[in-house]
Amino acid sequence: MTYVITQACCNDTACVDVCPVDCIRPTMDDELFATTEQLYIEPTTCIDCGACVDACPVDAIFPEDQLSEKDAKYTQINAEYFDKHPLVVDWDSFVPPSPIVVPKDQAPLRVAVVGAGPAATYAAEAVVTQGGRSVEVDIFDRLPSPWGLARAGVAPDHQGTRIITDTFETMVRKPSVAAHLGVEVGTHISHDELMAHHHAVIYAVGASTDRHLGIEGEDLPGSVSATDFVAWYNGHPDHAGDHYDLSGERAVVIGNGNVALDVARVLVTPVDELAATDIADHALAALRESNIREVIILGRRGPVQAAFTSKELMGLDDVPGVDIVVDPADLELDEDSAAFLESDECPFPVPRKIEWLREYASRTPDPDRKSIVLKFLGSPQAIEGDGRVERLSVMRNEIAADGSGRLSAHATGETETLDTGLVLRSIGYRGTGVEGVPFDERRGVIPNEGGRVVDPDSGAPLEGVYVTGWIKRGPTGTLGTNKKCAGETVEKLADDVKGGLVQRPVESREALDKLLAGRNPDVAGFPEWRLLDQAELAAGAESGRPRVKVTDVQKMIDIEKGRS
Ligand code: SF4
Repeated sequence: MTYVITQACCNDTACVDVCPVDCIRPTMDDELFATTEQLYIEPTTCIDCGACVDACPVDAIFPEDQLSEKDAKYTQINAEYFDKHPLVVDWDSFVPPSPIVVPKDQAPLRVAVVGAGPAATYAAEAVVTQGGRSVEVDIFDRLPSPWGLARAGVAPDHQGTRIITDTFETMVRKPSVAAHLGVEVGTHISHDELMAHHHAVIYAVGASTDRHLGIEGEDLPGSVSATDFVAWYNGHPDHAGDHYDLSGERAVVIGNGNVALDVARVLVTPVDELAATDIADHALAALRESNIREVIILGRRGPVQAAFTSKELMGLDDVPGVDIVVDPADLELDEDSAAFLESDECPFPVPRKIEWLREYASRTPDPDRKSIVLKFLGSPQAIEGDGRVERLSVMRNEIAADGSGRLSAHATGETETLDTGLVLRSIGYRGTGVEGVPFDERRGVIPNEGGRVVDPDSGAPLEGVYVTGWIKRGPTGTLGTNKKCAGETVEKLADDVKGGLVQRPVESREALDKLLAGRNPDVAGFPEWRLLDQAELAAGAESGRPRVKVTDVQKMIDIEKGRS
């Protein structure tokens, strides 16, 4: 028997740290970590101790003989990873994180973390773990609730991933960590004031807006951002009042990353299935009335270059009552893509994606069932309609190698038109700037070197200012990628403390609390957030759901303050 890592894996690597025989790969130090879809257990080395099961924050690891029917395939997937990347154990290669050594007369080292999502939480944990009792961490978020995209981005039918928030809760449940929820940097406190109250400020504000297509008709009613749609169905207060016209029978999602697959699943999953999740009540009500029967996911490039992960592609097969439709002609690979697929450079999951696409293509769709259609080699040209979206015009592409040998999409000149009343743009997230902090408009990130924020003109580091997560590296990676990213940033902070570069006198936490209370009397800490958390869980328990989210900021505050 062996243990097996399954679809819910978020690459947190807590399992790697506890494995006594070092048989889980890739590790954070491995160059494959940056692009891996998940972690894998080498079956012949695993000694079945079960330590990784307890460490996993998303319950993704099971003994082989306890796998569900849908997860059974992961036994082979875990083993096959090591056929391509044989396990090499090097006990000497482990480099522990550097301690943050604060001179006694300068303690506590006060660190602000702006944002309360996964990147922020991993950064706060790293500071506290590496700094021990000589650090204080203040976490800021403009909403009355923490956990960022773990609360408002993870799809509601992926509750296994959502439970990572329990781990986040444990990470911050320390006397040295305080939250200031309902505090917006730029509104309630400035960057300069943060710097006056902290030796170091780590920005972990994510990438909250979406990228634009730049095509005609993009702003027509019915053309919407998938980012906003995700926030709407997940109960983000900024989008609770949004409305989507779901009266047509077809929706088109532009882009084929995992967010596109999430959106498509939510649109066609039977509502009774969604009703057992923590999807927002307003979204559930709208989806009950929805007429959408078909969601087309449109990818610019071919199947070999598809952005979705193999595990999310395989997961589509688990949506009850829904056919996954692929045109076999789309799987006739061009010469370059076929050669790449056979090459050593081809990442481990790609052949599995092609295998599953061929499986879907071999099936005969039932016209009485809803469907998700995966289309490839099509770029949106224009969104058309009389006052609202009625059609999407699409240019057919072909794959060809550019000058650098990279395989990219090129227009063929052939177009087609898709009738649709709803177009969801899912071509990536983009960060926005923070007042008083440098910002790279072109890349949508805060300019930095390994997490140290730098002056964009001189390239010199700004003393005491750091960055982590999507606003540091761009919107890539899984939840667990943020742990590695935060680790790199906090290493820089540890180096700077050691080098005496973060030694300014700063105001105390008491002074900060006083300042914030004067700016916003409704600031909440973790104890108050827990009142809201318990209220949502209790409402969920009453209706047989994991949680019923409160989506109105004033109601959230009233519960936190004991006013309702
Ligand atoms: Fe490692 Fe034990 Fe998990 Fe096997 S069961 S992967 S030996 S921690």
